[in-house]
Amino acid sequence: MDNKELWESVLAQIQFHISRANFATWFQSTEVFSQKDNKVIVSVPNAFSKEWLSSKYNKLILKILHDADNKIKEVEYVIKQPQALKVQTSKISSFVDKSNNIEQLNFEEFKIDKETNLNPRYTFDNFVVGSFNELAHAAALSVSENPGLTYNPLFIYGGVGLGKTHLLQAIGNKIIENSKKKKVKYISSEKFVSNIVAAIRNHSIDTLKTNLSLIDVLIIDDVQFLAGKNKTQEEFFHTFNTLYEKNKQIVLSSDRPPNAIPELEERLRSRFEGGMIADISFPDYETRLVILKTKIQERKLELPDDVLDYIANNVKKNIRELEGAVNRLLIYYKINNTIPNFDSAKKLLRSYVFSPFDIANYKKIIEAVAKFYNLTEEEIFEDTRKKEVVRPRQVAMFLLRRELKYSFPAIARKFGGKDHTTAIYACRKISQEFEGNNKLTEEINLIKQRIYSG
Ligand code: ADP
Ligand code: MG
Repeated sequence: MDNKELWESVLAQIQFHISRANFATWFQSTEVFSQKDNKVIVSVPNAFSKEWLSSKYNKLILKILHDADNKIKEVEYVIKQPQALKVQTSKISSFVDKSNNIEQLNFEEFKIDKETNLNPRYTFDNFVVGSFNELAHAAALSVSENPGLTYNPLFIYGGVGLGKTHLLQAIGNKIIENSKKKKVKYISSEKFVSNIVAAIRNHSIDTLKTNLSLIDVLIIDDVQFLAGKNKTQEEFFHTFNTLYEKNKQIVLSSDRPPNAIPELEERLRSRFEGGMIADISFPDYETRLVILKTKIQERKLELPDDVLDYIANNVKKNIRELEGAVNRLLIYYKINNTIPNFDSAKKLLRSYVFSPFDIANYKKIIEAVAKFYNLTEEEIFEDTRKKEVVRPRQVAMFLLRRELKYSFPAIARKFGGKDHTTAIYACRKISQEFEGNNKLTEEINLIKQRIYSG
């Protein structure tokens, strides 16, 4: 067999042994460079591939080569520039379903379980712990070891993309791992609401309730979406009590603490507050670096230290963004067969770089405040003394002043040309309260998180 035929037959075999994602990643731009005596020399595009093929796939490659030609006893890898290998690259693509190979790197093997709704990719093992999430992590771990017996309910809150869903699902996965018999159910609040609405419509609410009462571990994500959903809250309250009385574990998450969820029935709020409440805040530089390293390892990517440092220093919004940045570089790597250096990383990650100054603006502040308090944007401007509106309006004024340095007359103009003393009063009032460590401070910090995370 000549070099080309030999390698094609090897590739055809290899793809049956490894995932398509790995195949695409590691065998793109490889070929047999020469065969001599008992040795085959395989050319690879870069040092990283060389290292990887010789440490992870050498045995497999050698075995297949040996099966093809039993004289072959040894393989060696040499680095050869990808330009010379263009033709070969397109050949590989024909083995690989192109449209799929990048997404597949996102944990192709993992499938969401239909019964539990859990995605096995969320585990404690791949969850990085730092001071920003250590309480939530410890509580989650403890619940997963003794469901129903330690903290019930466990309520985890924090901003977007900071690991709430990951932690909630890790609890579920761990419980199942420890005991297959346990009935675990993960459900998003939106789904929960729509199930209840549908059950009411189909007169099957009793069946739904019976099913829920048989669950050992009920995990409901993003309960802030239950705000204002009275019927759902009522049904949930009963389910909650039934499970709680039987020592069944309930785990909840939200983007804010229970006392800051608007339009949540008092009795439900006090249930939510009856167990353990743990927050997740923002990871610091060191932790971001550790998270990054974990993510690139999972994706079998390698990045120079200055690139890692650049990402950890600049992509600060949340962990989802860190992953986004890594994926962006991974795609670049896969397309160009070159590990991005500092300059290319900087260019590629422009959209991920966090800069508070070009993010906060009038529109975002109004939007964030309205959304947080479950009002429409028009409602904030309504000429009313209703408490549910006055307070959010004052917060909006305060934020315009504090974050954007609006003048009092400018604030007054935005709010329907009111006398600017109203604006002064609002800002002073909120800022006095803001100094203390109280519910309002927490609310404003959560709103700011949203303003600055777009
Ligand atoms: P949230 O539910 O708070 O919006 P997610 O749990 O969806 O956030 O997390 C966003 C992404 O970041 C997920 O892909 C998740 O796996 C990852 N992630 C979050 N926290 C961590 C962590 N501590 N260690 C590793 N990955 C994390
Ligand atoms: Mg989530």
